[in-house]
Amino acid sequence: MTTSKTQYALAADIGGTNIRAALIDSEGRMTGRGSINTDPERGIEDASDRLAKLLKAALATAPKGTEIVGVGVSTAGPIRPATGTYNHPPNLPGWHDKTMKPQLADSMSLPVWVGHDATLAALAETRFGDHVGAENLIYVTISTGVGGGIIANSEMVTGSSGGAGEVGHLSVRTGAYKCNVGCDGCFEGNASGPAIARTARDRWTGKGALADLAGGDPNNITSRMVFDAADDGDLIAKEVVDLTIENVAIGLGSLLNVFNPEALVIGGGVVQGLQRHWDRLQQSVIDHSLPGYGGTIPLTATRLGDDVSLLGAAQLAFRQARRQ
Ligand SMILES: [Zn+2]
Repeated sequence: MTTSKTQYALAADIGGTNIRAALIDSEGRMTGRGSINTDPERGIEDASDRLAKLLKAALATAPKGTEIVGVGVSTAGPIRPATGTYNHPPNLPGWHDKTMKPQLADSMSLPVWVGHDATLAALAETRFGDHVGAENLIYVTISTGVGGGIIANSEMVTGSSGGAGEVGHLSVRTGAYKCNVGCDGCFEGNASGPAIARTARDRWTGKGALADLAGGDPNNITSRMVFDAADDGDLIAKEVVDLTIENVAIGLGSLLNVFNPEALVIGGGVVQGLQRHWDRLQQSVIDHSLPGYGGTIPLTATRLGDDVSLLGAAQLAFRQARRQ
């Protein structure tokens, strides 16, 4: 049966610090937004109960008689999407081998679908972002960590156990910094916000714009300060920004070569700094990808902001409901 009636989904986004929820219609319009602390140490059952309350509050903003297709949940991972079972999630301690999917479905009396936040961010871009209808799209978030979501041939790439898309651990510079996991020279270890700050800290001279912004203490350096100091002509900061652009470009170039996407979208806090050097970033990605791209690279910065995974969670629900 086809109908032109607007559809609605409940959506949630679970991070290590906050859980956000909203009612979202098929055009991406949100109502009933709410947020609670995740407090993962209180346990997954407790979090599920509190999320159900948040979702019910969002549901109360629905127009009378609205049909809700279900609940889409975006979450920090790693996670097995089919069951929603966590696999040693670093930001949700104590949730390993557990899932909230059955409990939440029971509380809400609705079907619940779960996905990894970066994968759902990629899905959101194909429906609500600048690349509506894209069949091959990669989303890369560069902030405290580096993560990714891959849509290939219109499907979410999840891997055999839900671990696909960990683009943060692509090797971009052997012999350079390691990430927290310990891989040598990976994207996350050499281009995340903390990696940018650490690279600058290790070049600390105690002079110049960066030293001023950091109040004379190298431990205060943030990636934002590095980008700002580079704008002010600080030579060390410029060197670190150049290195960051190249590390990001090597990672993005590798992804282009492997997946040949129509669009490569980047998001996360570090992107604000990178946007000031967009032409150079694009040129560097071209330099680090196969000549077949012909000097044009489908690189954009997300416009969906912090809502990207929440919108992806809603799109997951619309999509799965259609397939049932
Ligand atoms: Zn790594």
